[in-house]
Amino acid sequence: MSDMLYFDHAATTPVHPRVLEAMTPYLTQVFGNPSSVHGAGREARKALEQARDAIASFMGAEAQSLIFTSGGTEADNMAIIGGAMAQRERGRHVITTQIEHHAVLHACEYLEQAGFDVTYLPVDETGSVRMEDLQQAVRPDTVLVSIMYGNNEVGTIQPIVEIGNFLREKGIIFHTDAVQAFGVLPFQVSELPVDMLSVSAHKINGPKGVGALYLGRKIPVSPILHGGSQERKRRAGTENLAGIVGFAEATKVAAEERADRVAKYEQMKAVMLAVWQEANIAYHVNGHPEHVLPHILNVSFPGVHTETMLMNLDLVGIAAASGSACTSGSLELSHVLVAMKLADEIARSAIRFSFGITNTVDEAKQAAQAVAQIVSRLARSK
Ligand SMILES: *Cc1c(COP(=O)(O)O)cnc(C)c1O
Repeated sequence: MSDMLYFDHAATTPVHPRVLEAMTPYLTQVFGNPSSVHGAGREARKALEQARDAIASFMGAEAQSLIFTSGGTEADNMAIIGGAMAQRERGRHVITTQIEHHAVLHACEYLEQAGFDVTYLPVDETGSVRMEDLQQAVRPDTVLVSIMYGNNEVGTIQPIVEIGNFLREKGIIFHTDAVQAFGVLPFQVSELPVDMLSVSAHKINGPKGVGALYLGRKIPVSPILHGGSQERKRRAGTENLAGIVGFAEATKVAAEERADRVAKYEQMKAVMLAVWQEANIAYHVNGHPEHVLPHILNVSFPGVHTETMLMNLDLVGIAAASGSACTSGSLELSHVLVAMKLADEIARSAIRFSFGITNTVDEAKQAAQAVAQIVSRLARSK
């Protein structure tokens, strides 16, 4: 494991040492329930609210607008199912895109079973939503739109400011899944025309199993978990205090290091492309050429199928991915690449490298050289 070159940070990231250190006391000494009124409970409550303040300040939101969840999936489900259910008497039409994470797509499919009508917007060949398509899809009974900030497979960044401004004018609630954009793009929620925004700790070197939904003032959302009155009666269940404290520490580290991380990822991308250019092998970068997350590089090597490449890379200790972790291991094409209508050979040979804080530029070069070797070896054996 230690010698492995890990380029699958869009799937998950290792916990930062500072995060682990911040969490440990909350798994041992400070174990109180934040809802308890005694001293132990009050101490836990204080830590919970300090963590909320830190995460809110990192994303430019008010502390009371953050609801802690069990991760990005729950935040997406709460926004979509909770947001639609709370408005079901106003209208039953929801708009999303064909390239969302399954946490959004499957929540929308659930809404369809519950009697809602869902429009799944197409994207262009760069993976971008077209404003005209959104404008045409809006109906008098549209109550919610969910369009992701940055895509987890190809990295394309959607025009969410333009989208949000249009929806504000129409009075339609707008949710964005910002799980991949968070910690990488320097957005401030206070400056974005969004009503709900999902984030997850384990994609930014925090622990797995914790995330948050930003919920704007007066945005109606019905709870999807029922029980105690935690999180201002919006999300029942005893809070994952250690996880939340770790999440807060991860945002503090990200605040300090974000610009350096992004600069390194951009350098890593450039180095990899330069290696392939020099080796004179055919490659095709998928996603938008400019509006793209810096830590994601999705690239196709025509003639070498995704699974073949991933297996050959794994043999030399390099971990890359085929896009969404959930569909890997199956031969099904990624729904994102299908929606982008890429040529069959491009779609069938796409792999994703996603960078993280422990990667070095030299590792990127090694990985790119390994890819080049695999491509030429397989070409020779044909
Ligand atoms: C990882 C991911 C999720 C799910 O988050 P979890 O915390 O793993 O539940 C949702 N959306 C996107 C874009 C993601 O990358």
